[in-house]
Amino acid sequence: MQLKTILNRVESFKSFVYGKVRWVQGDGQSAIEVELHARKNGRAICSGCGRPGPGYDRLPQRRFEFVPLWGMPVFFLYALRRVDCPRCGVTVERVPWATGKCHLTTSYRWFLARWAKRLSWNEVASIFGTTWRNVFESVKHAVFWGVFHQNLGRIEAIGVDEIQWRRGHQYLTLVYQIEDGMKRLLWVARDRTEQSLREFFRTLAGETRESIRFVCSDMWQPYLNAIAEQLSEAVHVLDRFHIMKKMNEAIDEVRRSEAARLNRDGYEPVLKHSRWCLLKRRENLTEKQTVKLSELLQYNLASVRSHLLREDFQRFWEYTSPVWAGKFLDQGCTRTLRSRIQPMKKIVRSLREHRDLILNWFRARGTVSAGAVEGLNNKAKLTTRKAYGFRTYEAIEIALYHTLGKLPEPEFTHEFC
Ligand SMILES: [Zn+2]
Repeated sequence: MQLKTILNRVESFKSFVYGKVRWVQGDGQSAIEVELHARKNGRAICSGCGRPGPGYDRLPQRRFEFVPLWGMPVFFLYALRRVDCPRCGVTVERVPWATGKCHLTTSYRWFLARWAKRLSWNEVASIFGTTWRNVFESVKHAVFWGVFHQNLGRIEAIGVDEIQWRRGHQYLTLVYQIEDGMKRLLWVARDRTEQSLREFFRTLAGETRESIRFVCSDMWQPYLNAIAEQLSEAVHVLDRFHIMKKMNEAIDEVRRSEAARLNRDGYEPVLKHSRWCLLKRRENLTEKQTVKLSELLQYNLASVRSHLLREDFQRFWEYTSPVWAGKFLDQGCTRTLRSRIQPMKKIVRSLREHRDLILNWFRARGTVSAGAVEGLNNKAKLTTRKAYGFRTYEAIEIALYHTLGKLPEPEFTHEFC
């Protein structure tokens, strides 16, 4: 069987035929070169308007890189024709295997992009003997194609969150769809301002926007403002994950300042290495940590009292009726406010301020999939942390859409991977 037979099976073009196949050896690497020819009488297609036009001249032969075979790079060789188009003037012809000035064939770009979902961009580049830049451009192409062809349709619930992507308080705003059956990233924007979120709502079609019934977020004021302004009809939920995260941050703050104070006053460093026992829930503690916790409980420390207040607060989520949950919230809040632990009091004050939004959690139960935002956010953090070899906003944005966007792909005659 000839290589041409295989090529015709995996990638055939209506107006072009494969010609000679050559084996070339150059600077330590061998490659396969395949000539392509336009069919006789086939007219070149103008890349401006997509219509056939009279030929003008031919450009020098170019190499287009195709999917590698058995570890060897494969190139298509073709001299592009120029068209004398009555509408567009003299343009370069459009060919079915590549677009624009790109020296990678479209199949090869999709091949690289698909691998880049499973491996880091550096790994893909080194495995297929290409550059990081080529992998990046291929992923970018896949994302642009996907976003362009994506039809969001109806969306019932969204979750808004932020992640830090660079040192020095540089944040990204992320919007996810979080329903059972469809969890994906819908939007990435710089910073975490009202504007970052408002832009998302602007990109939505009217029908999609009106279909949103639930929106989940943390207590970050700019998000609350943008949601109130843009989605006044939807039920806004402050979800459990975010609230407990805030509470854990407060406990950690209490512990750190208390540990520093004890240390200064010459007491034994009882709070050292206790971070996890304070943050973890009691049933998740390891045996060693349980011992540590009972040791800690002997001291009447603010860290310990904060921990107990948090344990107590966990019961809040077990309510089914918003009314009873609300009563619990008020009583629990009063207890904490009497505790004189500043970071905890701060949390409780903001819980009280957002009482209605928090109680919406009970109203949305069963619709908003619990833990969805947390799960997606962990994946997003992993994507930004993974060694992709990038530090620019553009690359991070592309990587996030690529891994979490569930973007559509074109139909291929042959699946290369
Ligand atoms: Zn034209």
